[in-house]
Amino acid sequence: MAPEHTTPAGGKACHQLLRRIPKVDECLLRLAGEPSLPADAPMTLVTKVVRQVLDTLRQAILAGEVVTPDDLEFPSVLARILKEVQRQNRSRFRRVINATGVIIHTNLGRSLLPRAAMEQIQQAGCRYSNLEFDLDTGRRGSRYALVEELLCDLTGAEAALVVNNNAAAVLIVLETLARGKEVIVSRGQLVEIGGSFRIPDVMARSGALLKEVGATNRTHLRDYENALTEETGLLLKVHCSNYRIIGFTSQVSNEDLVALGRRHGLPVMEDLGSGCFVDLSRFGLMKEPTVQEVVASGIDVVTFSGDKLLGGPQAGIILGRRQMIDRIKKNPLNRAMRIDKFTLAGLESILRLYLDEQKALSTIPTLAMISAPVEQVDRRAKRLARRLRKELADRCRITVEETMSRVGGGAMPEQNLVSRAVVLAPDISVSRLEQLLRQQDLPVIGRIEDDRFIFDMRTVADDEVVDLASVIISVLVGN
Ligand SMILES: *Cc1c(COP(=O)(O)O)cnc(C)c1O
Repeated sequence: MAPEHTTPAGGKACHQLLRRIPKVDECLLRLAGEPSLPADAPMTLVTKVVRQVLDTLRQAILAGEVVTPDDLEFPSVLARILKEVQRQNRSRFRRVINATGVIIHTNLGRSLLPRAAMEQIQQAGCRYSNLEFDLDTGRRGSRYALVEELLCDLTGAEAALVVNNNAAAVLIVLETLARGKEVIVSRGQLVEIGGSFRIPDVMARSGALLKEVGATNRTHLRDYENALTEETGLLLKVHCSNYRIIGFTSQVSNEDLVALGRRHGLPVMEDLGSGCFVDLSRFGLMKEPTVQEVVASGIDVVTFSGDKLLGGPQAGIILGRRQMIDRIKKNPLNRAMRIDKFTLAGLESILRLYLDEQKALSTIPTLAMISAPVEQVDRRAKRLARRLRKELADRCRITVEETMSRVGGGAMPEQNLVSRAVVLAPDISVSRLEQLLRQQDLPVIGRIEDDRFIFDMRTVADDEVVDLASVIISVLVGN
C-alpha cells in the first residue's frame, strides 16, 4: 500500500502539507543569525541536521502521522533543528556519574586513573618523550624497559612484558608456548568473561589444543597427571573471575601444579584475570592470592589486566621466567599488540604509587573506593540527601539507607561491600526517572530496586555531589 493512501486527510491535503515544508537553504539562512546555534557547530553538521529534520517531517506526512501546518512554520521547524544540532554537536564519548556502586564498571570505563597518572599521560601526549630512546646510551631503546623493572621489583618476577589487554596477553602466551601442543585445563576453569572472551575459543585461536580434565566442581592432581602425553605443552590455571563454584569442590594448588610441571619439564601458566598487588581481605573481601603470592608459588607465567583491581590503564601484564618472556617478546604478535605511549605513561605512574602500599590505597581510585570506610560514604550520602531535600522535599521521599556495592569487572563475584545510598521514591515512574537521568548533558547512572531509585555513593566522588544533586533536581523539577 502506498503511504499516500493511508493519509487520513487524503492525497490532496498531504500534497499541500508537503509543499509547506521549508526549503533547506531558507532554513540555513535563518539559522545564520540564530543566537542559540552553537558557535562551534560545523556547517556540515548543521546542513546535515537541517536535511534530517526536514526529511523526518516529510516521512511523517507521508506516513499519515498528524502534522499540523504550525509544525511546518519556521519557529517550530527551527526549534527542532536547533535542539538536534545541540544534541549532535556534543561529544559522543562523555563523562557520566556512576551511582551504581559497581566500582570496576566495564560499561562505564572500568578503572579511573589518579591525577598523577593523568599528568604523565597529558605530558606524553603533547610533548616528545624517550618512548623508545635510551637516554643513557643515546641509542634506540625499548618501550617495555620503562616499566619492566618496576613490575619485577613489585612482584618478584624475573621478567615482564605488557600488551594491550589481558585477552591479548593470554593469546600471545599460548601462541608462543603451546601452539600445536596440548594445554591441560580444569573443567571448572573454562571461563567466559563478557565481550566474547572464552578460554576455549582463545585457545583455539592460539593454535593450542585444549585438553580439559576433571569435573566441573572437582579436579585433582591425578587428573592432570593422567592427561599428560608427548603432546602436552603447558599446564594452565584460569581464575574463575566472574563465577564461583561452591559446595563440594576442589582445585589443585599452584604448588602441586608447579611441582608436576617441573617433574615433566612443562611450563605452568596462570591467567589471574584481575591481578591485585594488595591483599583486600582486610576490607571485608574474600582472601585472593596477590600477584606477588602467585609469582612466589613458582608459576612460570602469570597474566592479568591493568584496568581491573590494579586500577591502571587498559593493559595486559605478563610476568614470568626470563627465558619465556624473551620468547614472547620476539613473537611477531607482540608488535600487533603493543601498548601505546599513553598506556605506558599511565601504567608507570600507577606502578610507582604501588611502591608505597598506603599511598596506592589512598590515591588509586579503584583501591580508594574499595577501602573507603562506610562512614565516609555515609557522610557523602547525607550531603546529597540534604541538598535534594531542600528542593524536592514535597515531591518525593528521600532517605539514606544501607546498600551493597560490588567490586565488579569480573573480580570477586558474589561479594559485597557495605555502602550507603540515597534512595528516592519519585512522583514519576522509576523507569522514566532512570531514562531522564541517563539522557542529561551529564548523564547519571544508578540502580532501580523495589520500585525506588538508588544512588550508591561509594562510586560517586566527593567533588561530584554538587553536580549530581543539580542533575537530579533539574530532572525532577522539570518533569
Ligand atoms: C578480565 C579477564 C580477561 C580479559 O582481560 P581484559 O584485560 O579485559 O582483556 C581474561 N581472563 C580472565 C580470567 C579475566 O577475568
